[in-house]
Amino acid sequence: MRKPVAMITGASRGIGRGIAIELAKQGYDIIGTATKLTPEDRDKGLFEVKDRVESYAVNFVPVAGDIADPEARKRLLQEAFSAFGRVDVLVNNAGVGLLKRLDILETTEESYDRVMNINLKGPFFLTQAVANQMIRQVKQGTEYAPSVIFITSISSHTASPNRAEYCVSKAGISMMTKLYADRLAEYGIGVFEISPGIIATDMTSVVKDKYDKLIAEGLTPIKRWGQPEDIAKAVGAIAEGRLDFSTGQVINVDGGFHLRRL
Ligand code: NDP
Repeated sequence: MRKPVAMITGASRGIGRGIAIELAKQGYDIIGTATKLTPEDRDKGLFEVKDRVESYAVNFVPVAGDIADPEARKRLLQEAFSAFGRVDVLVNNAGVGLLKRLDILETTEESYDRVMNINLKGPFFLTQAVANQMIRQVKQGTEYAPSVIFITSISSHTASPNRAEYCVSKAGISMMTKLYADRLAEYGIGVFEISPGIIATDMTSVVKDKYDKLIAEGLTPIKRWGQPEDIAKAVGAIAEGRLDFSTGQVINVDGGFHLRRL
Protein backbone atom coordinates (compact mmCIF):
# COMPACT_ATOMS: atom_id res chain seq x y z
CA MET A 1 0.00 0.00 0.00
CA ARG A 2 1.22 3.53 -0.83
CA LYS A 3 2.32 5.61 2.10
CA PRO A 4 0.86 9.10 2.62
CA VAL A 5 3.21 11.94 1.67
CA ALA A 6 4.09 15.12 3.57
CA MET A 7 5.83 18.15 2.06
CA ILE A 8 7.54 20.12 4.83
CA THR A 9 9.33 23.39 4.09
CA GLY A 10 12.26 24.32 6.33
CA ALA A 11 12.81 20.71 7.40
CA SER A 12 16.58 20.91 7.93
CA ARG A 13 16.45 21.98 11.57
CA GLY A 14 14.31 23.35 14.39
CA ILE A 15 10.54 23.02 14.17
CA GLY A 16 10.50 21.60 10.63
CA ARG A 17 12.91 18.84 11.63
CA GLY A 18 10.68 17.97 14.59
CA ILE A 19 7.63 17.80 12.31
CA ALA A 20 9.47 15.55 9.84
CA ILE A 21 10.37 13.07 12.59
CA GLU A 22 6.81 13.06 13.97
CA LEU A 23 5.26 12.40 10.56
CA ALA A 24 7.86 9.73 9.79
CA LYS A 25 6.74 7.96 12.98
CA GLN A 26 3.21 8.07 11.56
CA GLY A 27 4.42 6.37 8.37
CA TYR A 28 4.58 9.37 6.04
CA ASP A 29 7.07 9.58 3.17
CA ILE A 30 8.51 13.07 3.26
CA ILE A 31 9.72 15.81 0.93
CA GLY A 32 11.80 18.12 3.12
CA THR A 33 13.11 21.46 1.95
CA ALA A 34 15.75 23.97 3.04
CA THR A 35 17.86 26.63 1.38
CA LYS A 36 20.85 24.37 0.90
CA LEU A 37 21.93 20.76 0.47
CA THR A 38 25.65 20.39 0.99
CA PRO A 39 26.90 16.82 0.43
CA GLU A 40 30.14 17.59 2.31
CA ASP A 41 27.99 18.08 5.44
CA ARG A 42 26.59 14.54 5.49
CA ASP A 43 25.82 14.70 9.19
CA LYS A 44 24.03 18.06 9.14
CA GLY A 45 20.89 19.74 7.82
CA LEU A 46 18.66 17.85 5.42
CA PHE A 47 21.10 14.90 5.31
CA GLU A 48 20.95 14.42 9.06
CA VAL A 49 17.16 14.66 8.97
CA LYS A 50 17.00 12.18 6.07
CA ASP A 51 19.00 9.60 8.05
CA ARG A 52 16.85 10.12 11.13
CA VAL A 53 13.55 10.02 9.23
CA GLU A 54 14.49 6.95 7.20
CA SER A 55 15.22 5.04 10.41
CA TYR A 56 11.39 4.84 10.65
CA ALA A 57 11.24 2.84 7.37
CA VAL A 58 9.90 5.70 5.24
CA ASN A 59 11.52 7.70 2.42
CA PHE A 60 12.84 11.23 2.71
CA VAL A 61 13.55 13.30 -0.41
CA PRO A 62 15.58 16.45 0.33
CA VAL A 63 15.10 19.45 -1.95
CA ALA A 64 17.10 22.69 -1.77
CA GLY A 65 15.88 26.11 -2.86
CA ASP A 66 14.72 29.51 -1.76
CA ILE A 67 10.98 29.39 -1.06
CA ALA A 68 10.74 33.01 -2.23
CA ASP A 69 11.98 32.07 -5.71
CA PRO A 70 9.28 30.97 -8.21
CA GLU A 71 11.73 28.73 -10.11
CA ALA A 72 12.76 26.97 -6.89
CA ARG A 73 9.09 26.39 -6.00
CA LYS A 74 8.46 24.91 -9.46
CA ARG A 75 11.43 22.56 -9.03
CA LEU A 76 10.22 21.53 -5.59
CA LEU A 77 6.82 20.63 -6.98
CA GLN A 78 8.33 18.65 -9.86
CA GLU A 79 10.60 16.71 -7.52
CA ALA A 80 7.76 15.98 -5.12
CA PHE A 81 5.40 14.68 -7.76
CA SER A 82 8.04 12.72 -9.62
CA ALA A 83 9.18 11.04 -6.38
CA PHE A 84 5.78 10.22 -4.87
CA GLY A 85 3.03 11.38 -7.25
CA ARG A 86 1.02 13.11 -4.53
CA VAL A 87 1.08 15.32 -1.46
CA ASP A 88 -1.28 14.50 1.43
CA VAL A 89 -0.06 17.08 3.94
CA LEU A 90 1.65 20.36 3.11
CA VAL A 91 3.38 22.04 6.06
CA ASN A 92 4.37 25.65 5.35
CA ASN A 93 7.01 25.98 8.04
CA ALA A 94 10.06 27.70 6.45
CA GLY A 95 10.51 31.21 7.73
CA VAL A 96 13.07 33.77 8.80
CA GLY A 97 13.45 36.34 11.52
CA LEU A 98 15.07 39.70 10.89
CA LEU A 99 18.74 40.14 10.03
CA LYS A 100 18.64 43.20 12.24
CA ARG A 101 15.93 44.42 14.60
CA LEU A 102 15.06 48.03 13.84
CA ASP A 103 12.26 50.21 15.13
CA ILE A 104 9.22 50.43 12.83
CA LEU A 105 10.10 54.11 12.31
CA GLU A 106 13.51 53.13 10.92
CA THR A 107 13.25 49.72 9.31
CA THR A 108 14.19 49.39 5.64
CA GLU A 109 12.37 48.35 2.48
CA GLU A 110 15.12 45.80 1.88
CA SER A 111 14.38 44.04 5.17
CA TYR A 112 10.61 44.30 4.58
CA ASP A 113 10.88 42.72 1.11
CA ARG A 114 13.16 39.92 2.31
CA VAL A 115 10.85 38.88 5.12
CA MET A 116 7.64 39.25 3.12
CA ASN A 117 9.00 37.27 0.17
CA ILE A 118 10.16 34.34 2.30
CA ASN A 119 7.52 34.27 5.04
CA LEU A 120 4.43 35.35 3.10
CA LYS A 121 4.76 35.25 -0.69
CA GLY A 122 6.57 31.88 -0.68
CA PRO A 123 3.86 29.97 1.22
CA PHE A 124 1.06 31.80 -0.64
CA PHE A 125 2.18 30.57 -4.06
CA LEU A 126 3.52 27.20 -2.92
CA THR A 127 0.12 26.48 -1.38
CA GLN A 128 -1.64 27.67 -4.53
CA ALA A 129 0.39 25.24 -6.65
CA VAL A 130 0.08 22.29 -4.26
CA ALA A 131 -3.64 22.93 -3.70
CA ASN A 132 -4.29 22.80 -7.45
CA GLN A 133 -2.57 19.41 -7.58
CA MET A 134 -4.55 18.25 -4.56
CA ILE A 135 -7.81 19.33 -6.25
CA ARG A 136 -6.92 17.35 -9.39
CA GLN A 137 -6.27 14.29 -7.25
CA VAL A 138 -9.51 14.76 -5.27
CA LYS A 139 -11.42 14.90 -8.58
CA GLN A 140 -10.01 11.50 -9.55
CA GLY A 141 -12.26 10.12 -6.82
CA THR A 142 -9.75 7.97 -4.99
CA GLU A 143 -9.69 7.91 -1.20
CA TYR A 144 -7.72 11.05 -0.37
CA ALA A 145 -8.25 13.66 2.37
CA PRO A 146 -5.39 16.16 2.14
CA SER A 147 -4.57 19.05 4.44
CA VAL A 148 -2.51 22.22 4.52
CA ILE A 149 -0.85 23.60 7.65
CA PHE A 150 0.63 27.05 8.14
CA ILE A 151 3.11 27.72 10.94
CA THR A 152 2.55 31.29 12.12
CA SER A 153 3.65 32.76 15.46
CA ILE A 154 2.43 34.62 18.54
CA SER A 155 3.79 37.57 16.51
CA SER A 156 0.71 37.36 14.29
CA HIS A 157 -1.31 38.81 17.18
CA THR A 158 1.34 40.40 19.44
CA ALA A 159 2.90 43.76 18.51
CA SER A 160 6.72 44.05 18.61
CA PRO A 161 7.48 47.41 16.96
CA ASN A 162 11.17 46.52 16.65
CA ARG A 163 10.40 43.60 14.31
CA ALA A 164 7.34 44.92 12.58
CA GLU A 165 7.85 43.25 9.21
CA TYR A 166 8.07 39.82 10.88
CA CYS A 167 4.79 40.49 12.75
CA VAL A 168 3.06 41.70 9.57
CA SER A 169 4.26 38.62 7.65
CA LYS A 170 2.86 36.28 10.31
CA ALA A 171 -0.45 38.17 10.56
CA GLY A 172 -0.67 37.78 6.79
CA ILE A 173 -0.31 34.02 7.07
CA SER A 174 -3.13 33.95 9.62
CA MET A 175 -5.41 35.49 6.98
CA MET A 176 -3.98 33.15 4.36
CA THR A 177 -5.15 30.22 6.51
CA LYS A 178 -8.70 31.57 6.55
CA LEU A 179 -8.71 32.27 2.81
CA TYR A 180 -7.45 28.82 1.82
CA ALA A 181 -9.67 27.12 4.42
CA ASP A 182 -12.71 28.79 2.89
CA ARG A 183 -11.71 28.13 -0.72
CA LEU A 184 -10.59 24.51 -0.32
CA ALA A 185 -13.36 23.21 1.96
CA GLU A 186 -15.50 22.11 -1.00
CA TYR A 187 -12.73 19.69 -2.00
CA GLY A 188 -12.40 18.23 1.49
CA ILE A 189 -8.99 19.87 2.00
CA GLY A 190 -8.57 20.99 5.61
CA VAL A 191 -6.46 24.09 6.30
CA PHE A 192 -5.01 24.91 9.72
CA GLU A 193 -2.87 27.49 11.47
CA ILE A 194 -0.47 26.41 14.19
CA SER A 195 0.76 29.36 16.23
CA PRO A 196 3.94 28.57 18.17
CA GLY A 197 5.09 30.53 21.21
CA ILE A 198 8.73 30.71 22.26
CA ILE A 199 10.38 27.59 20.90
CA ALA A 200 13.99 26.53 21.46
CA THR A 201 15.59 26.59 17.98
CA ASP A 202 18.40 28.41 16.16
CA MET A 203 15.99 31.28 15.52
CA THR A 204 15.60 32.04 19.23
CA SER A 205 19.13 31.06 20.34
CA VAL A 206 20.27 34.68 19.92
CA VAL A 207 17.69 35.90 22.46
CA LYS A 208 17.97 32.97 24.87
CA ASP A 209 18.97 34.94 27.97
CA LYS A 210 16.19 37.48 27.47
CA TYR A 211 13.51 34.77 27.14
CA ASP A 212 14.96 32.63 29.97
CA LYS A 213 14.33 35.61 32.23
CA LEU A 214 10.88 36.47 30.85
CA ILE A 215 9.68 32.87 31.12
CA ALA A 216 11.01 32.56 34.71
CA GLU A 217 9.13 35.78 35.54
CA GLY A 218 5.84 34.33 34.28
CA LEU A 219 5.50 35.56 30.68
CA THR A 220 3.86 32.24 29.82
CA PRO A 221 1.46 30.40 32.17
CA ILE A 222 3.40 27.20 31.46
CA LYS A 223 6.87 28.22 32.62
CA ARG A 224 9.13 26.51 30.12
CA TRP A 225 10.48 26.91 26.62
CA GLY A 226 8.50 25.17 23.91
CA GLN A 227 10.30 22.43 21.99
CA PRO A 228 9.99 21.54 18.30
CA GLU A 229 8.23 18.34 19.44
CA ASP A 230 5.40 20.44 20.95
CA ILE A 231 4.60 21.84 17.51
CA ALA A 232 5.17 18.46 15.86
CA LYS A 233 2.52 16.83 18.08
CA ALA A 234 -0.08 19.36 16.92
CA VAL A 235 0.84 18.71 13.28
CA GLY A 236 0.63 14.99 14.04
CA ALA A 237 -2.95 15.36 15.34
CA ILE A 238 -3.99 17.05 12.07
CA ALA A 239 -2.12 14.50 9.96
CA GLU A 240 -3.93 11.69 11.78
CA GLY A 241 -7.24 13.26 10.76
CA ARG A 242 -8.32 14.17 14.30
CA LEU A 243 -9.48 17.66 13.29
CA ASP A 244 -11.42 16.78 10.16
CA PHE A 245 -14.39 19.08 10.94
CA SER A 246 -12.28 22.02 12.18
CA THR A 247 -10.92 23.62 9.03
CA GLY A 248 -9.62 27.17 9.57
CA GLN A 249 -8.84 26.45 13.21
CA VAL A 250 -5.94 28.19 14.95
CA ILE A 251 -4.04 25.91 17.30
CA ASN A 252 -1.99 27.87 19.82
CA VAL A 253 1.08 25.91 20.92
CA ASP A 254 2.49 28.61 23.16
CA GLY A 255 2.30 27.49 26.81
CA GLY A 256 -0.78 29.71 27.24
CA PHE A 257 0.93 32.93 26.09
CA HIS A 258 -2.16 34.01 24.14
CA LEU A 259 -4.41 34.08 27.22
CA ARG A 260 -5.42 37.53 28.46
CA ARG A 261 -4.54 37.56 32.13
CA LEU A 262 -5.35 39.85 35.03
P1 NDP B 1 15.05 27.87 12.17
O1 NDP B 1 15.76 29.15 11.89
O2 NDP B 1 15.58 26.94 13.19
O3 NDP B 1 14.84 27.04 10.79
C1 NDP B 1 14.32 27.69 9.66
C2 NDP B 1 14.10 26.70 8.55
O4 NDP B 1 13.55 27.41 7.43
C3 NDP B 1 15.38 26.05 8.07
O5 NDP B 1 15.11 24.76 7.62
C4 NDP B 1 15.80 26.94 6.91
O6 NDP B 1 16.63 26.29 5.97
C5 NDP B 1 14.44 27.24 6.30
N1 NDP B 1 14.47 28.46 5.50
C6 NDP B 1 14.86 29.69 5.90
N2 NDP B 1 14.79 30.55 4.87
C7 NDP B 1 14.35 29.85 3.81
C8 NDP B 1 14.12 30.18 2.45
N3 NDP B 1 14.31 31.40 1.97
N4 NDP B 1 13.68 29.19 1.62
C9 NDP B 1 13.51 27.93 2.08
N5 NDP B 1 13.72 27.57 3.36
C10 NDP B 1 14.15 28.51 4.20
O7 NDP B 1 13.56 28.32 12.51
P2 NDP B 1 12.44 27.67 13.48
O8 NDP B 1 12.45 26.20 13.37
O9 NDP B 1 12.55 28.32 14.79
O10 NDP B 1 11.13 28.27 12.80
C11 NDP B 1 10.32 27.55 11.90
C12 NDP B 1 9.05 28.36 11.67
O11 NDP B 1 8.40 28.58 12.93
C13 NDP B 1 9.30 29.75 11.08
O12 NDP B 1 8.28 30.06 10.16
C14 NDP B 1 9.23 30.67 12.29
O13 NDP B 1 8.83 31.97 11.94
C15 NDP B 1 8.16 29.96 13.11
N6 NDP B 1 8.20 30.27 14.53
C16 NDP B 1 9.30 30.00 15.30
C17 NDP B 1 9.28 30.32 16.66
C18 NDP B 1 10.43 30.05 17.56
O14 NDP B 1 10.34 30.48 18.73
N7 NDP B 1 11.48 29.37 17.15
C19 NDP B 1 8.11 30.94 17.27
C20 NDP B 1 7.02 31.16 16.38
C21 NDP B 1 7.08 30.83 15.07
P3 NDP B 1 18.27 26.37 6.09
O15 NDP B 1 18.66 25.39 7.15
O16 NDP B 1 18.76 26.00 4.74
O17 NDP B 1 18.60 27.79 6.45
